[in-house]
Amino acid sequence: AAAAIEEPIKPKVQVEYTQLLIDGKFVDSASGKTFPTLDPRTGEVIAHVAEGDHEDVDRAVVAARKAFDEGPWPRMTAYERQKILLRAADLIEKHNDELATLETWDNGKPYAQAAQIEVPMLVRLIRYYAGWTDKIHGLTVPADGPHHVQTLHEPIGVAGQIIPWNFPLLMFAWKIGPALACGNTVVMKTAEQTPLSALYAAKLFHEAGLPPGVLNVVSGFGPTAGAAIASHMDIDKALAVYSVLEVKLAFTGSTSTGKVVLELAAKSNLKPVTLELGGKSPFIVCEDADIDQAVELAHFALFFNQGQCCCAGSRTFVHESVYDEFIEKAKARALKRSVGDPFKGGIEQGPQIDSEQFEKILKYIRSGVEGGATLETGGERHGDKGFYIKPTVFTNVEDNMLIAKDEIFGPVQSILKFRDIDEVIRRANSTRYGLAAGVFTKSLATANLLTRALRVGTVWVNCFDTFDAAIPFGGYKMSGQGREKGIYSLRNYLQVKAVVSPLEKPAW
Ligand code: ADP
Repeated sequence: AAAAIEEPIKPKVQVEYTQLLIDGKFVDSASGKTFPTLDPRTGEVIAHVAEGDHEDVDRAVVAARKAFDEGPWPRMTAYERQKILLRAADLIEKHNDELATLETWDNGKPYAQAAQIEVPMLVRLIRYYAGWTDKIHGLTVPADGPHHVQTLHEPIGVAGQIIPWNFPLLMFAWKIGPALACGNTVVMKTAEQTPLSALYAAKLFHEAGLPPGVLNVVSGFGPTAGAAIASHMDIDKALAVYSVLEVKLAFTGSTSTGKVVLELAAKSNLKPVTLELGGKSPFIVCEDADIDQAVELAHFALFFNQGQCCCAGSRTFVHESVYDEFIEKAKARALKRSVGDPFKGGIEQGPQIDSEQFEKILKYIRSGVEGGATLETGGERHGDKGFYIKPTVFTNVEDNMLIAKDEIFGPVQSILKFRDIDEVIRRANSTRYGLAAGVFTKSLATANLLTRALRVGTVWVNCFDTFDAAIPFGGYKMSGQGREKGIYSLRNYLQVKAVVSPLEKPAW
């Protein structure tokens, strides 16, 4: 593999939007401050972006509350809301290349993946939830007494949403799709590493006819703008006495930050919180699995998106009878993985998101070596600039090693050997996480047994990372609370109101 990275390819798109999007307008931050967003291929500045903080979150919440309480959004017919969301999806589809370019530039993911997976999935998600707008309704409930009882499913109000940097546009879609479909308004904080694509996409929603204040995007940092959303209590009393007791919070990020966010929400106003957090997902290769297919999917499960997936199959459990063959092939596959400029065709792996993640991953690699795991390939930076790391494979990994316990969030595959099914169930489940699992076997009985025994939110059988707008996603244990996507995400953004009235015989 070549050591040096060639001169980075110049993106064909200009950065158009760098301000905060509040009440339908691009505005500077109240402080006037900006922060640089970096190109992970080089560490150089792409653009300076307005840095939102408490005051900006307050402004955004005022706009969102007004759009909810007085504005047309929750009052429009569902069909009108649907048409706006569908128009937005059409516009996003039309601007696929611009959005994909911003995504690759800011995040470092291979362009083909941004253009052929991420943006199309954003479009699909918005169309899926547009389809729900006019199908949300309550029930007529039988009661013991002579009462007419019905439930109304109402939007909650202002949704605060905090998203990470690994799939900036997809996370944007998972959050706003159901929130807007149910008639809520949104204040979103994007990740400080990747503010660009969501601003562009949000602008397209406004072009599609979204009323001002319905979708506000505040770029900024976690402990300032993020914490301001999580702990939001009330708006500047001089402006209004809006109570934001009904703010709903949706967060995706690491488990440790999730705890902080939940604590802030509890300490402020008990706003309900949905959390999608970290994982250490097992990928189990049974003795009867098709080994070539299992090697390829285990590779994909871990290395996809530079290893920066919360559901990455980061503990590859392989049955002892196929272990030697598997590790030979897994190592050969990792060696073949093409690493380089994500704008270049045929590249499978770009740089990690930033220097912090880059250093963290290298630290985990050192701990793997020091802990006694066998480093089969990789283990160091790729090239001499940017945040590239060589695809890394460890074998002879033991359950108690850090690389088998912590979420590394990088291109580091840890392969563990197992002997029987009860053992692998116990070991796969002995983690604080429970996001996903992969199961590889030709036996229906084995697949069924494992599927039921694994304490995780998603089990992929003979496949991995199969995502769909309709398939729910979320974690058991410390991988999160609640589910996103599909019908399940609607619950996050709806209140249920029970309406009871006596059934009486009229006097006439
Ligand atoms: P990652 O490891 O993916 O960067 P984080 O959990 O740190 O995970 O970040 C996910 C999101 O949470 C980002 O938008 C980040 O800015 C935000 N965030 C980080 N710290 C806080 C905090 N104290 N309060 C609210 N949001 C935060």
